[in-house]
Amino acid sequence: MSSDTGIQIPGRLPLLLTHESVLLPGSSMRITVDSPRNMKLVKARLLRGTSLKSTIIGVLPNTRDPDSEEDELPTLHRTGTAGIAVQVVGSNWPKSHFTLLVTGLCRFRTVTVVKERPFVVAEVEQLDQLEQYTGQAPLKGELGQLSEELLKYAAQLVGMLDMSVPVVAKLRRLLDSMPVETLPDILTSMIRTTNKEKLQILDAVELEERFKMTIPLLIRQIEGLKLIQKTRKPRHEEQKKVVAVLPVRKGGQHPFKQFSLDDSVEEGEEDGNDIALLEKKIRSVHMPEQALKVCLKEVKRLRKMPQSMPEFALTRNYLELMVELPWDRSSKDCLDISSARVLLDNDHYALDKLKKRVLEYLAVRQLKNKLKGPILCFVGPPGVGKTSVGRSIAKTLGREFHRIALGGVCDQSDIRGHRRTYVGSMPGRIINGLKTVGVNNPVFLLDEVDKLGKSLQGDPSAALLEVLDPEQNHSFTDHYLNVAFDLSQVLFIATANTTATIPPALLDRMEVIQVPGYTPEEKMEIAHRHLIPKQLEQHGLSPLQVQIPQEATTEIISRYTREAGVRTLERKFGAICRAVAVKVAEGQKAAKTPADDSSDHDLVLPPEMPFVIDKQAVRDILGPPIFEMEMSERLNQPGVAVGLAWTPLGGEIMFVEASRMEGEGQLTLTGQLGDVMKESAHLAISWLRSNAKAYQLTNGGFDLLDNTDIHLHFPAGAVTKDGPSAGVTIVTCLASLFSGRLVRSDVAMTGEITLRGLVLPVGGIKDKVLAAHRAGIKQVIIPKRNEKDLEEIPAHVRADLKFVTSSCLDDVLNAAFDGGFPRIRSHDLVNSKL
Ligand code: ADP
Repeated sequence: MSSDTGIQIPGRLPLLLTHESVLLPGSSMRITVDSPRNMKLVKARLLRGTSLKSTIIGVLPNTRDPDSEEDELPTLHRTGTAGIAVQVVGSNWPKSHFTLLVTGLCRFRTVTVVKERPFVVAEVEQLDQLEQYTGQAPLKGELGQLSEELLKYAAQLVGMLDMSVPVVAKLRRLLDSMPVETLPDILTSMIRTTNKEKLQILDAVELEERFKMTIPLLIRQIEGLKLIQKTRKPRHEEQKKVVAVLPVRKGGQHPFKQFSLDDSVEEGEEDGNDIALLEKKIRSVHMPEQALKVCLKEVKRLRKMPQSMPEFALTRNYLELMVELPWDRSSKDCLDISSARVLLDNDHYALDKLKKRVLEYLAVRQLKNKLKGPILCFVGPPGVGKTSVGRSIAKTLGREFHRIALGGVCDQSDIRGHRRTYVGSMPGRIINGLKTVGVNNPVFLLDEVDKLGKSLQGDPSAALLEVLDPEQNHSFTDHYLNVAFDLSQVLFIATANTTATIPPALLDRMEVIQVPGYTPEEKMEIAHRHLIPKQLEQHGLSPLQVQIPQEATTEIISRYTREAGVRTLERKFGAICRAVAVKVAEGQKAAKTPADDSSDHDLVLPPEMPFVIDKQAVRDILGPPIFEMEMSERLNQPGVAVGLAWTPLGGEIMFVEASRMEGEGQLTLTGQLGDVMKESAHLAISWLRSNAKAYQLTNGGFDLLDNTDIHLHFPAGAVTKDGPSAGVTIVTCLASLFSGRLVRSDVAMTGEITLRGLVLPVGGIKDKVLAAHRAGIKQVIIPKRNEKDLEEIPAHVRADLKFVTSSCLDDVLNAAFDGGFPRIRSHDLVNSKL
C-alpha cells in the first residue's frame, strides 16, 4: 500500500531487533541497544562521527533475547515499525550501550532478509499509510462508530488524570489534534499494556481491527484507575500494593506519572545507598567550593532520576570522575640539584646542552617554587632522547610522569573535552591525564606539538595555549567538567621534531632547546652504556650470557641504521637479544635433555659460555646489511651527485640522477618535487646552458640542449622534497652528465644557486653535516656564508671531514670533480673562436 502523500519508506531497511519493547507508529520510545548486532547498526547507520545521522530504520520485535545466541539470527516477528531515531546517547556504564529515542512512522512487513551481518537488512513492504484517511474525516460506517467510541473512552481516561502533570496536558492536546485513526497506536503505547498486547496491535494491520482491540484496553485502564482512586490510602505501603496488581510496563518512559510511583520507589531504594556513598565521597575529596556546589546539585538531580534514564549513567560517570580527580592530592617535590645532575648524567649520555638547561630550569624552580617561566620545548629528530629526558626530569623531582601524544590531534575538544550534552562526551586529555596519575602536580610531556592539526572542530593549539599560560591555567575549564581545575602545579614539557610547524603563539610561550642527532661515536657510547644493558634486561638476559663487542656495534650503526637518533639502533639490539634468548632457552633445554649433536648452528654453545655477537652473528640475525656502502657504486657513472637535505627527522644524504636522450630540449623532473625544487632545477639548467661553452660541454654544438632531452630524478620518489638547497647538486650532476666525468664519490654538497652562478647560504647545516658524516662522506661543500655554522658541529666530526666553502658555482664544480672542472675564461673563448 502506498500513497502519493505522506511517508514513503525505502524498500530495504536496516533492522533493529528489540526483545522487550514494541514500538508502535506515531509514538516515541527509548530503546536500549546493547547487543552486538544492534550496536553495529547504530554505529554504521545512525552515527556520523559522533553526531546523529537521520536514517529510517525498521524496529522489529523478536521473540528471543538477541544476546543469547550472538551468531544465530533470532526468530523475527513478521510485522515491524519503521521509525526514525531522533536521539542517540552513548554510555559505558554499567556496560557499553546506546539509548535511542525512536519515533515510529508506519508498519512494514519483512519480505526477505537480505543480509544478517554485521546487522540485519531486509526487503520490506510498507503496510499502513495513515495519511490516506486524513482529509476524509469523519470516518464513515463502522469505522466511524468505532472511532467515536474510542474517542469517548480516551477522553474519559484523560479526564481522570491530573491535568497539572505536563504529559497529561500533552496527551489532552494530542487527543484534540491527532487524526483519530492514529490514536489506537498512540494510546496503546501510552497506557499500561503488556508486550503481547502491543504485538497484537502491531499485527492488526486493518484499522478496524485495531480500533476493536484498543477499546477494551482503554476500558481496562479506566477501571484500573478507578480502583486506584477508590483504594488509595494515605499509607505508602498500601498504595504500592494496589499499583503492583497492574501490569508492569517495561521499556520506554511512562507518561502516567501516577502509575509510575512504584517504579521510582523501587529504583530509588536500590540506588539510594549508592548515591549516598557517592555524595559522601564527593564531600571527602576536598574539591573547591564551586565544584562541590555543582556536584551536590548533580547528586540531587540523580536522586530524582529513574535509573533507566540514559542521563542517570551520564551524570553518575561525571560525578565519579569528579571524585577521582586529584583536587588536593599532590606528590612531594624532592628536588636536590646535585643529585638531579647525577641522575640526568646516569640516564643519558651526551646531550650536554640540554642537560645544562634542564638543571638551570630545575635550580630556579628550587629557589622559587611557583615558577611562571616559559615551557621547555625539546626540538630534534626522533629517537634522540627527548621523551626519556622528560621522564628523567619527573624522576628527579619525584613526580608522576604522563605523556600526552598530540600528533594528529585536530579537534580542540581533544584537549578541552566535549560538553556533556554531546553524544559520548568525555573530558579532554589534560583532565584524563590528571585522573590517570592521581596527583595534581605531575610532569606532563606534550609530545609532538609540531604535529597538531587544525580542523572545523576548532584549533587545538588555542586550547593548549590556555593550558600552558601561567596566567590562565590556574582556572582551566574543561568543557566536560564545566568547573575550573587548577593546573598551575603541573610541570609541562613539550617535544617537537621541528619548530617550523609549531603554531607561532604556542612557540612564543616556549623555550626551545635544540637536541641534535648523535655522531657514530656518541651512538657507540649510548649503545654500550644504556641501550644494550636495557635490552638485555628487558629480554631476561645477563651480560654474562651475551657480549656485543664494539666492532659489532659499529657495524650495526653504520650498515644497519641511518638515523639521527638511536631508536632503530635500540630495536636492532632488541632483535639480537631475542635471537640470543631463543638460543639460551634452547641451550637450557639441551642441558636438561641429552645434548643434541646434530644442532650445528654456529650460535649454539654450551650454556655457560657467553654468546659473542661478532660481525657474522650480526649478519645471521639481522640479515644482509641494509645500507651497503652504496656511494661509490651509485656514483660510478656520470650524471649522479650527492646532495644534503634537511628533514624534520634530521639530515639526510640525497642522490640526484640525470640522464639525457635525443629530443627537443625538454626537461623532465621526477621524484615528488615541490615548486622551489623545480625552480632550482630550471635555474641550474639555465646557468649551465649559458656557461656550456666556457666549460666545453656543448660537444661542438651550439646549445647544450640541441637535440637533447634531460631527465632529472631524485630517488626515493615517494618522499616529497622541496627547498632551494639542492641547487648546487643539480648543477654538479648535470655538469657530470654533459662532461662525461664522474663526481667524486666522497663528496656531498648543499647550497642555493642564483641565475648568475652565485651560491647562497642554506639552513640545517649541522644536521646535514652529521648526515654526511654518518654516510661516510669525506668532503662537504657548503656555501661560504654558512661557514659560521660549522662551529656548532662536534669537534671530532669536524676533524673527520674536509669542508670546502663556495661563493660561486665554479668553486663547487672544482671541488666536486677530481682534478677540478676547468673553465675557459671569456677572453680565451673569444680568442679560440677567432
Ligand atoms: P624521542 O622522544 O626523542 O623520540 P626517546 O626519548 O623515545 O626519543 O628515545 C629513544 C630511546 O633512546 C630511549 O630508549 C632512550 O632511552 C634512548 N636514548 C636516546 N638518547 C639517549 C641518551 N643520550 N642516552 C641514553 N639513552 C638514550
